[in-house]
Amino acid sequence: MSEPIAFLGNLDPDEEADFLAALGAALPEETIRPFRTLTPDERATVRIAIVANPDPAEVALLPNLAWIQSLWAGVERLVRDLGPGTAPIVRLIDPELARTMAEAVLAWTYYLQRDMPAYRRQQETATWRQLAYRPPGEVRVGLLGLGALGSAAAARLVQAGFRVAAWTRAPKPVPAEVTAHSGPEGLPDLLAASDIAVCLLPLTEETRGLLDAGRFAAMRPGAALINFGRGAIVDTDALVAALDAGRISHAVLDVFSVEPLPPDSRLWRHPGVTVLPHISGPTTPGSAAAVVAGNVRAYRATGRIPAAVDVARGY
Ligand code: NAP
Repeated sequence: MSEPIAFLGNLDPDEEADFLAALGAALPEETIRPFRTLTPDERATVRIAIVANPDPAEVALLPNLAWIQSLWAGVERLVRDLGPGTAPIVRLIDPELARTMAEAVLAWTYYLQRDMPAYRRQQETATWRQLAYRPPGEVRVGLLGLGALGSAAAARLVQAGFRVAAWTRAPKPVPAEVTAHSGPEGLPDLLAASDIAVCLLPLTEETRGLLDAGRFAAMRPGAALINFGRGAIVDTDALVAALDAGRISHAVLDVFSVEPLPPDSRLWRHPGVTVLPHISGPTTPGSAAAVVAGNVRAYRATGRIPAAVDVARGY
């Protein structure tokens, strides 16, 4: 029998129960215990922690941690909260999450391509007006980020007939149908060539505030933005100014610097903004538990820690 695995999170009780049940079913050979139920002696034996927004002070009470499994795909908050010198952090790379995110990217790309925001506004004034149809083959979608989620989204968009380009930090091989851009010098080219820019970047030192007034000015006049990455990548004042000036036609925002988005945020009422409550790529306990189980079993069998986040790079 191995030592217990600690579960640490700031989840509501039902959500915690769902995750613990899914993890227990996926790893029947392991004992997974909420941190609060572990004695100090048991805490000292723990090698693996499974976390969802954990209290860093509790993580610090596990002195022999070998690695930390996050239940979220985005780990910038965890990396920041735990600080340097923490045990390796393994983020969730879940094919089901990638599928769900790719579906969301396709859905909201269609929303923009089929002019749904404009028809919504027309309905408010009982206006019967048919806008020109743009087939997917005439719509250029630029993905900022082509990692686990961006790659799945690119495949889905290509399959649907959109013209797809992508921007990454370093050059990397991309499918033949995708136009590749990379590095700081690659972003203006991507933005200038996109009718819809889709942000699937992690929040790092380099990406915080990346989409600012200069970047919006570099976009095609009337282009649209979808932000499914992290809220703080977008400079909200600059976005609102670009929308008000008509430079950007519409923004679909699923992530915000402060969540839940405060009721007094002007984004809620801006006619050029569609607000979503962080729903584009939810973690589902069943599929996440299967991914975590694979990581835990590989570690038990080999002693090797799964590929971890590069803390210096920030993702
Ligand atoms: P990932 O596999 O780590 O991919 C990140 C991508 O961003 C990579 O292509 C990377 O480039 C690129 N990138 C990072 N920094 C860059 C920079 N400075 N310049 C240009 N490109 C840069 O991450 P993922 O699994 O696809 O997830 C991406 C993000 O989505 C997460 O970090 C999280 O913030 C967000 N997310 C949102 C939701 C939601 O519900 N809204 C759900 C899950 C995740 P390289 O390929 O060169 O490394």
